[in-house]
Amino acid sequence: MRRTGTNLPKVGLYNRAVVLDQIQLADGISRIEIAEHSGLTPQSVSGIVRRLIDEGIVREDGSQASTGGKPRTLLRINAGAGLAVGVHFDPFELSCVVVDLNGKPLVAMHRPTPPLAGPERVTEAIAELVDEVLLTSGVPRDKVLGLGLATPGPIDHSLGVLVGPPQLTRWERVPLKQMLAEATGLPVTLDNDSTAAAIGERWAGAGRGVADFAYFFFGAGVGGGLVLNHQIYRGGSMNAGEFGHTSMKADGPQCYCGNTGCLESLINPLALAADARRRLADGQSSELERLFRNDPAAVDYTAVRLAAAAGDQLAIEVVETAAGWLATAVVDIVNILDVDLVILGGHSLRHVEDRFRRATEHALATRTLARNIRTAKVESSPLGADAAVVGAAALVLYATYSPQVSDLLSL
Ligand SMILES: [Zn+2]
Repeated sequence: MRRTGTNLPKVGLYNRAVVLDQIQLADGISRIEIAEHSGLTPQSVSGIVRRLIDEGIVREDGSQASTGGKPRTLLRINAGAGLAVGVHFDPFELSCVVVDLNGKPLVAMHRPTPPLAGPERVTEAIAELVDEVLLTSGVPRDKVLGLGLATPGPIDHSLGVLVGPPQLTRWERVPLKQMLAEATGLPVTLDNDSTAAAIGERWAGAGRGVADFAYFFFGAGVGGGLVLNHQIYRGGSMNAGEFGHTSMKADGPQCYCGNTGCLESLINPLALAADARRRLADGQSSELERLFRNDPAAVDYTAVRLAAAAGDQLAIEVVETAAGWLATAVVDIVNILDVDLVILGGHSLRHVEDRFRRATEHALATRTLARNIRTAKVESSPLGADAAVVGAAALVLYATYSPQVSDLLSL
C-alpha cells in the first residue's frame, strides 16, 4: 500500500513529502500517476511539483505515451542538485560518504577511530575525514546540504547530546552535534546509528517502498529501527527500536541497561568470542584449537565467524546459538508489530549472514501467530556494513524531502 495524501488544507508539508516519496521511489513517474497513487487531486499534485521544480529538487525528464491524450512528462529527482555528507562514528571505526539526492554514494572512506579518544579528538578526526571525502569527490562545500551523523545511542535529541553511550567510557552528555557543526561549518543532523541505518534501508536499500518493516542492526551491539506506515517510528524519547534489550532469559547475564538476559548481552561479539573460548577450554575439538593454545585472546569474534564460514563445527554452534536468540527476538517483534519485512544488517553479520537469515526465516515460518495468513519476509541488507553511514547521509536528504521530519530533527 502506498502512502496517500490528503486534500485538506494545512497539510501541505505532508503532501509535499508524499509526492517526493513517490518521485524518489519510481524510476520516472507522471503527475497523473502521482495523483492516482496518492489520492491527491491533479491540481494539488501540479502545484506541489511546480514548487519542487522551482526549488531544483525535481526535474522533468522524458515522456511516456498515454492512451488518447498527449504524452505525459516524466518526473525524476534532480540527483545532482544537492549533496549530503554522512558520518558514522562507532568506537572502532569512522566512516564518511558523500551522496547525491538519490542516496547514491559518490565517495566512501573508512578510518579507525582514534583509540580511547575523547570528544574533542574525535570531532577533529571526523572533520579531517569530511575534508578528505569532499576533496576526493570534488564536491564544493557550498553544494552540501548538510552533514548527517550516526552515533551509538542513547541520544537526547532535544539537545543533540550523546548520553553515556556504552563502550565509550569518559563520554557523558557530549554535545557532539554542536561541536561538529562548529568544526565543519555544516548544519548537522544527529541520530542513533540503528535508526539512521533503517532510514538508509528505506532510502536506498531493501526497504525501498515497503510500508512496514523492522531493521535489526548487529554491530558492536544489537539495535534496530522501525518504519511503520511509511514513517520512521521514533517513540516518545526518540529511542525506539532498542531490540538488543529484548528480554530473552530472566536469569541471564546482567546487562548495562539495568535488565538481565538481554539479547545484546547474549550475542554481542565479545560474548560470542567468550562462548567459543569456553567450549575450547572444555576440550571441544575445533580448527581454532591451535590459535587458542597460542593465545586465547586471539580467538575473537572475527576468528569465530571466519571459522564458521569455513565449516568448523564449534564455530558453527556458537553462531547458530546466537542466530537462534536473534530469531526469537524477531518472532516477538513480528508478533507485536505485524511488519511485512525484517531486514538484517550490520558489520557483525559479515561472513555469517546466511546462517542468521535462515534461522530467522525458519523461526518466522514456524513460530509466529499469524504465519498461516502471511509470513514476514527476511532480507539481508544490500547496504551491508555501510547502511549506517548511507543512512546518516539520508538523514539530511530525508529532512530535505520530509519537512515534518526536518522540524522534528532541528528541535
Ligand atoms: Zn539490556
